[in-house]
This record gives sequence, C-alpha cells and structure tokens, in this order.
Amino acid sequence: MRSHLLNDTTAEHYRCSVTEGIERVAAKLATTDRPFTGITVHDLAHRIDAVDLDTPLLDTTAALDELEEVYLRDAVYFHHPRYLAHLNCPVVIPAVLGEAVLSAVNSSLDTWDQSAGGTLIERKLIDWTTGRIGLGPAADGVFTSGGSQSNLQALLLAREETKSGRGDHAERPTNMRVFASEVSHFSVKKSATLLGLGPDAVVTIPVDRDKRMQTVALARELERCRENGLTPMAVVATAGTTDFGSIDPLPEIAELCDRYGTWMHVDAAYGCGLLASVRNRHLLDGIERADSVTVDYHKSFFQPVSSSAVLVRDAATLRHATYHADYLNPRRMVTERIPNQVDKSLQTTRRFDALKLWMTLRVMGADGVGQLFDEVCDLAGRAWELLAADPRFDVVVEPRLSTLVFRHIPAGVTDPAEIDRANLYARKALFASGEAIVAGTRVGGRHYLKFTLLNPETTVDDISAVLDLIADHAEQYLGDILDRAS
Ligand SMILES: *Cc1c(COP(=O)(O)O)cnc(C)c1O
Repeated sequence: MRSHLLNDTTAEHYRCSVTEGIERVAAKLATTDRPFTGITVHDLAHRIDAVDLDTPLLDTTAALDELEEVYLRDAVYFHHPRYLAHLNCPVVIPAVLGEAVLSAVNSSLDTWDQSAGGTLIERKLIDWTTGRIGLGPAADGVFTSGGSQSNLQALLLAREETKSGRGDHAERPTNMRVFASEVSHFSVKKSATLLGLGPDAVVTIPVDRDKRMQTVALARELERCRENGLTPMAVVATAGTTDFGSIDPLPEIAELCDRYGTWMHVDAAYGCGLLASVRNRHLLDGIERADSVTVDYHKSFFQPVSSSAVLVRDAATLRHATYHADYLNPRRMVTERIPNQVDKSLQTTRRFDALKLWMTLRVMGADGVGQLFDEVCDLAGRAWELLAADPRFDVVVEPRLSTLVFRHIPAGVTDPAEIDRANLYARKALFASGEAIVAGTRVGGRHYLKFTLLNPETTVDDISAVLDLIADHAEQYLGDILDRAS
C-alpha cells in the first residue's frame, strides 16, 4: 500500500496516475455534445449503490473506468456553451494547473509552519484585491470557502465591532439589525441566524425597477431602527445580485452608513469580476468605501471551486476571528511577527486556493480575466435585445452583468398559473433532454426562467436555439393539456 503514498519513491506512479486521469477528462471534454445526459436520480443512484466500497478495485485504470460510469459520463458540464443555469463558470487552465499543484503539495494555510510561501502568496493576492477595490493602506482579508462563508465572517466582524463600539453596556445581539435588499443573497439571513441575531434581525429593503436597493427606503428603515432603540449593525449592499446581476447604489449607501455609524458590507460575490475589467470597473464605484467586501473568484474570475475571499478596510477588525491554541498559533507568535493566517480565518486547516488565482494572474493577467467577464456581459446585452424583441417571451430587467430573467408567454394563454406551469415544465423537460440547462426563480410570486451567462464561448445563436427549445417544450406541455381536456 505504501506505493500509493505520494513521495520521492513514487514520483513516476504519481505522474502516470494523474496523467491517466487528465487524459480521461480531456477526452470527455472533447466529446461532450451537451451539458448533461439527462440521466435520472434513480438511474444514477442505482449505479452508485452497486459499488461496494469494501471491495476495492486495487487498480487505477479500473477505478477510472468505474468513475466514467458513476460520474464522468453523466456529470453536469459547465464548460459547455449551453450550460446557462447557475453562477458556475468555465474554468481557466492556469487555475486548474494551480489546483493540481496545490493538492499535490497540500500546504495548509492556517500557519506559516504548514505553508511558508503559500501564506505570503495568499497575502499578496489579498493585497492585490484590496488594492483593486481601493480599501486603503490598513486593509486586509483572507481566502474563504465561498461567498456564504465570507458573508458570515463579515457580519461576525460587524457584530463584534458594533458591540465594542458601545462601550461598557455591551449591545445585545437581538437588538441589532442588518439591512439588505429583497434580492440579496439568502446567506445574509442564514448568517444572521448563525450569529444569534434572532429571527427579526434582517430588515428587507425593497428594490427599484432595476432591482437595486431603494436608498430612500433604506434611509427610512435606518431611522426607524434608531427610533425604536435598536442598533443598525450593518448594511449589506449587493454588487451583482444572484438573480438579476443588479448593483445596489454603493455611494448613496456609503453615505447612509456614515450617517448612522453602520458597518457597510458589499457582497460582490458575483460582481467582483468587474475589478479586473478595464471597461466596466466603474460600475463598482463606491465599493472602496466598504468596511468589508465579499468576492467569489470562483464565479467571475473563472476559478475552480472553491476560491473566495473576505476583505476588510481595517485589518484590526479581523481580531474578532483570532483565538490562540498552544499547539498551533500561541500568542507569542504574534509578537514574533510569524504570519499565521488562522488568526484571521473561521477555518483551521485550509486549502491553498489562492494558488489558482496566482497562476491565473501570472499566466493571463488581470486584464485577460476582465476581458472574459466583459465578453459575457456583452453577450447578456445582446441576449436582452433578442428577448425584448421576441413576443414569445417576457424579460424582467436589462442586465448590468450577465444574467437574464424571463419567461415564456404561450400565445393565447392568460391564466398566470398556467403560464407558471408551462415554464416549470419547459425547464424540467430541457434538463431531462440534457440539451441545455437553465435556472429558475420567482419574480412577483410567478415562476421565471434564468440564464446566467459566464461562458464566453456561448454565442447569440446558442441563446436563440435554447429559447426555441424552451418555447417548444412549453407548447408541447400546453398541447398535451389540451389533448387531455378534449
Ligand atoms: C453566490 C453568491 C453568494 C454565495 O456564495 P457561495 O460561494 O455560493 O457560498 C453570496 N452572495 C451572492 C450575491 C452570490 O451570488
């Protein structure tokens, strides 16, 4: 069994095994003609159930053959131009290379003595990101597992800062309020619960027609909060809402946060790609005034999951995540200036995800990444024109980033519930066919479909073909209903 340990004596086995795996994936990528095979849960579960984990194959090639059956053949492929569903990007090769290196070396970024250069590379990328945001000289941050964790940590810091800002009579968490728009990410509410803020903590602010937070309403709610003797703990502005890609008015929100002494968090999990864009960076103007920012490189920087970070204006606020353990990061290391990233993180053992971004920036450069994101935003603009001109569809809002929320309106059908069912059916049928994958969401209580465009290889023709497929499936559904009725 020792031959399976990666070390000096097994370098050749390592090279052959990994190459064999890469060959399989490369062959798969070269031949996938649709994003999904449409396999059912039942059929796939059957195959996976049949594997006896206590009877190993004892052979890499055999295990890869089996993997083909249980995973590779029927996986959902984000690189396919007709995968248009969630915020999953095709990944760039330098990042995949970084992934291969980081898992083989297996640094753990909690302490310097488990990572050495890895820690410094992560710190440099954090500095690079805070520089792009414009958070100022005292800024810092840390890589996280994703936007949800970044939001949780940002709100944890906001809660603790709110407490300590109150002097002796420590503010009770249940008296704190967090303000976020009605289309903010659900992890804001989840974080509030995890942070013990209570069920009423998140005050939902309505959005305007462009799905941006209404700052007049925010001002009113902040005022009401004060009047009720409660404490406005944080405003979460979203820079790229998950459904609409809308960007809340950051400068106005920053003004209000100043006025009420409230922590400003910007959730740029999706919109962070603009930080690399020469043409569209200005859409994030005002983000530099945030106290904390969430970025998901695994969304708009074309990085493999996971790769995210939370950034803060004032490094000192990260102390709220600092706990010392004698065996790991004793207090004296702080005075000895040994850089232990665990002092800033909610995690202990932690992947060296930063290496993927490092390789990406070294090979492609930030402009290269920004250009890819610009391309998908341009594509969304063209898809909007297509949808707006097509009487078969109703489209909700012109995209700022790269999502489109729309629904099929079958000719002659006026019953909203019937239209809902036709759209739900079309989405399911499309998924089952595997020809394309689209997402769904609700707007005003009705079912809508959603394209999230993150693949520069997707063309307007792809979009137009998928729209035809959706309309065909919906018509098919309505036809079946009519048949049954007659
Ligand atoms: C995706 C997303 C998140 C959550 O990020 P994960 O990486 O999925 O945890 C948070 N906020 C917004 C706006 C998002 O789009």
